[in-house]
Amino acid sequence: MIKVHKEPDDEPPFERCCFCRKPTPFWTQLENRTPGQQVACCEACASRAHVQDVPTKAVWCRRERIAESPRVVDPPLGPPRSDEIGNNDFHR
Ligand SMILES: [Zn+2]
Repeated sequence: MIKVHKEPDDEPPFERCCFCRKPTPFWTQLENRTPGQQVACCEACASRAHVQDVPTKAVWCRRERIAESPRVVDPPLGPPRSDEIGNNDFHR
């Protein structure tokens, strides 16, 4: 059981629960974390999970970014430049 509370100022779109990714206005209220380090957590998951299961804010943000980003087909910055394909040390 994780302590959560509803963010009074939170408006849609809500952040996604750190466990099930359902949008939720509920956030963890972990006593060993500062307010800035809390993560979104829906009531259903809060009732099932344990404090040690809660990802850190950094991990959660990274997961969200990965989940939200489109599938990478090409490298994000375009095709690799020819000088990155290893012709540097080739003739040495
Ligand atoms: Zn959840």
